[in-house]
Amino acid sequence: MKIWSTTTFPETPVNSISSTVYGDKHIKVDLKREDLIDAEVSGNKFRKLKYNMLQALEEGHYSILTYGGAFSNHIAAVAKAGKLFGLETIGVIRGEELGKNLDITLQKNFTLRFAYECGMQFEFVTRTAYREKNTESFRESLKTKYGTFYEIPEGGTNELAIKGCHEILGATTVDYDYIACAVGTGGTIAGIIEASLPHQKVLGFPALKGDFLEDEIKKYTSKTNWELIPDYHFGGYAKTSEELIRFINRFKKEQNIQLDPVYTGKMMYGLTDLIRNGYFSKNTRIFAVHTGGLQGIPGMNDRLKKQGRSTISI
Ligand SMILES: *Cc1c(COP(=O)(O)O)cnc(C)c1O
Repeated sequence: MKIWSTTTFPETPVNSISSTVYGDKHIKVDLKREDLIDAEVSGNKFRKLKYNMLQALEEGHYSILTYGGAFSNHIAAVAKAGKLFGLETIGVIRGEELGKNLDITLQKNFTLRFAYECGMQFEFVTRTAYREKNTESFRESLKTKYGTFYEIPEGGTNELAIKGCHEILGATTVDYDYIACAVGTGGTIAGIIEASLPHQKVLGFPALKGDFLEDEIKKYTSKTNWELIPDYHFGGYAKTSEELIRFINRFKKEQNIQLDPVYTGKMMYGLTDLIRNGYFSKNTRIFAVHTGGLQGIPGMNDRLKKQGRSTISI
C-alpha cells in the first residue's frame, strides 16, 4: 500500500540529459522520471487512476471495470491499483480469440499475465463488440454479469484522471520554458496544461494519427499555451520503425534510461529531432515527462521478433 497510503506519490527524480545534439544547440533537457513511480506499473497511468480509485472507495464500490487491448498499459495499471486498494478489477479486453485458451494467452502475453496475477478478471470480446462498448445495451450486459462497478474508460481519461495529472508538475518546474509529453487519449497532457504556467508552452507528441486529439484535449482545458506535434507517430499507434528502435537502444546505452516504443520513445525522438532542426531558441529549458509504459516492451519485442526485426534492448 506504500504509494497509495497517502494522497501524494513519492517525488520522482528529474534527470538532466546530456547529449551532443542538445549541447550543440545550447538546449537544456531534463527528463521527469515518472517511469519510476512503480516497479511494474509506471508512469502516468497511476497518476490518472489515483483520484478514480479514491472516488470508487468513497462511493462504496467493490469492483472497477475498464477496457483495453491485450498490451495496454492502462489494463496493467488498473489491475495493480485494484490489488493495492483491495478492489476487484474486471478488464474488458479486445479480442475474443484470447479467451479461447486462457492458459496459452497468459503464457504468451506479459501484460495479461501480469494483470491476471494481480487478480483481474477478463471479459474477452470481439472487435465489433469492443467498438460498441459505449452503448447502453453493452453496459447493461456487463452489469447483468458482474453487478455494479465503478467504470473507467479505455485509456483512463476522465476529469479525475486530469486532476491526477496536474501533480506531474510541481514547484520545481517553474523555471522551464517548455514541457513535453507523449499523447494517447490526451488526458495526461490536459492535466499538464492545466498545471502549466503562462510563460510555459506544452508540446504534445501524439503516439497515433488523429485529428480528433485537439478537440479531446480542449474538452478538459481552455488554456491555449500548448501545441501538438503530429510528425512523430511513426505510422500509427504501436507502429515502429528500425530508426525508432535504434534511437531507443542508443538512448538506453548513452543515458541509461529505458524508453518505451509506443509513447516515450516517439516523444524523445521527436523532441531530439526538433532540437536538431533548430525549433527552439538558444538556452531554452525543456522539461520532458517520461510517462513510463515499460511493461509493454516484452509484448512489443515478441511481435518484432516474429517479423524478423530488431528488438528493444532491455
Ligand atoms: C497512456 C500513455 C500515454 C498517453 O496518455 P494519455 O493520457 O492517454 O494521453 C503516454 N505515455 C505512456 C507511457 C502511456 O502509457
